[in-house]
Amino acid sequence: MRIKLAAGNWKMNGVQASLAEISALSDHTQGPSEVAICPPATLVAAAVAIAGDVAIGGQDCHAKTSGAHTGDISAEMLKDAGAAYVITGHSERREDHSESDADVNAKTQAGWAAGLSVILCIGESLEERESGATLDRMAAQMAASVPDGATGANLVIAYEPIWAIGTGKVPSLDEIAEVHAFIRKTLTDRFGDEGAKMRVLYGGSVKPSNAAEIFAVADVDGALVGGASLKAADFSGIIEALN
Ligand code: PGA
Repeated sequence: MRIKLAAGNWKMNGVQASLAEISALSDHTQGPSEVAICPPATLVAAAVAIAGDVAIGGQDCHAKTSGAHTGDISAEMLKDAGAAYVITGHSERREDHSESDADVNAKTQAGWAAGLSVILCIGESLEERESGATLDRMAAQMAASVPDGATGANLVIAYEPIWAIGTGKVPSLDEIAEVHAFIRKTLTDRFGDEGAKMRVLYGGSVKPSNAAEIFAVADVDGALVGGASLKAADFSGIIEALN
């Protein structure tokens, strides 16, 4: 039985005052689903201190544990700050920082080595969607980005169509179902029983108003949420839809 997960990705948003939004989620963490917030790295330690049952994660980590990498943050540092999760392979990292599948693979292994669970993002571009290449793209991204050794405990996959992120556009429920079924089959073919235990989240313009119908789709084990995770009033509606 997979425990459903509502994970918020604050991206480059949030200052000390924003921690109140995490505190305000405490009324919504009593349900059966897990709740996580990935604030900017500057807030991880402070978020952990007030998070209660909300798990805290980083948004990226370096593939190495330490060294001369100005501005970077290691998975060990996130773990040391109290994080439980780290996101790898978000399309904004793949695009803004030219991260390849090999980079994502190495970062994911670094997350595991530090004892973090990894939320690994995959997703197709609009061009790939329109040319019918979505499933091939997912297969290729998973083959190259997901390291050997993935388990239900250390890996969460987030399916995030790039064209649905921050745009208000969402694939049809049939399209979500098709991709999630494909991801599940790919994971179980490669990892057997562990593949059946991995959570597969949908991400891209999830809001309180569309969450329930998305969560009703087979093999959707929760969501990775950007914009609608910034305010507890919105994110709590998504958590309630998951419960
Ligand atoms: P969005 O972002 O919910 O704002 O579309 C999702 C994500 O990038 O994880």
